[in-house]
Amino acid sequence: MKFTNPVRLALIISLLTIVFFSLIYSLLVLLNKIPFSIAVILTFDVLLFIFTYFLLKNILEKLIFEKIKVIYKIIQSLKLTRVEKKALRTTLGEDMINQVSKDVMDWAEDKKAEIEQLRKAEAYRREFLANVSHEIKTPISNIQGYISTLLSGGLEDHYVNRDFLLKTEKNIDRLIELVDDLDIISSLESGEVRMEKSRFDIQALTKEVFEFLEDIAKAGNIKFIFGNDENTPVWVYADRDRIRQVLVNLLDNSIKYGRKEGRTKVSFYDMDENFLIEVSDNGMGIEKDHIPRLFERFYRVDKHRSRAEGGTGLGLAIVKHIIEAHEQTVNVRSSPMIGSTFSFTLKKG
Ligand code: ADP
Repeated sequence: MKFTNPVRLALIISLLTIVFFSLIYSLLVLLNKIPFSIAVILTFDVLLFIFTYFLLKNILEKLIFEKIKVIYKIIQSLKLTRVEKKALRTTLGEDMINQVSKDVMDWAEDKKAEIEQLRKAEAYRREFLANVSHEIKTPISNIQGYISTLLSGGLEDHYVNRDFLLKTEKNIDRLIELVDDLDIISSLESGEVRMEKSRFDIQALTKEVFEFLEDIAKAGNIKFIFGNDENTPVWVYADRDRIRQVLVNLLDNSIKYGRKEGRTKVSFYDMDENFLIEVSDNGMGIEKDHIPRLFERFYRVDKHRSRAEGGTGLGLAIVKHIIEAHEQTVNVRSSPMIGSTFSFTLKKG
């Protein structure tokens, strides 16, 4: 039997007490020291039981409650007021110990989850800092190299001066791009940015992005095409500027990782409440193993190619943040050497 509550414990001790005194009474009767009377023994037992039971119950509850109070103060991190103490006593009820051990276990579970969360956030922060400094280091040391070569005579050498200045400019552009992407991602992650939603035609917006990226696409010999009739508007309800950023990132990737003479197709599919927007290319594709990590910050399949193409490793992380801030989803399907399809949903406008 478990003595997990003061009522049961007081009951048992009181019963044992009356058994004990009844035995002494019987012994005295047997030794002819006192006369036998059933009325006396019954009255005595009842009174003794009531007295011991209530006395013990109160003492035990008070003692246990004093200890429990301290536990609750710790687990609830607060100072209990008189009213709260009373409320706590009522909620705990008869089965105090079991209730307390359950509450303490729940508290321990919560704390464990909290610690795990903090540990993850700390690892995430450390990894982020390491990634950022790694990304910054390369262009800075390149710039340093070009400048010191120019200063130690290169400036007068007509074969290298212009070339080295152009390379310096390229590295500065890379740093600016990185800082811009970091700025976007940190404001999206802080949760402070609100999506400024409005009704707009995403078909027209895509046309605008096609034009914006036209020169880079031409340089890579990539053709942009629509999967639908390009004169039928596709109305969505979203943050236009942010969705423009999503399209720029996805279309830019389709050029960077596309094949020469390739094509990128943007299609819209009606899905009840939403539109599904697909950006598909016939480029280099992505191995299955990389897919689950693709939207992580700084995750790259081919680091060398990404850096050579001026990638910051943050493009898809930004895409995911923006789409999730719209409470929508983003997905990818891909086959190596065949191509990739990135898709996301948006609420119809
Ligand atoms: P990056 O700046 O490196 O392009 P992203 O976050 O935009 O960073 O993309 C992450 C990685 O996903 C890229 O480095 C590339 O390896 C892969 N990737 C993204 N889009 C495509 C695509 N359309 N085809 C093939 N690989 C892609």
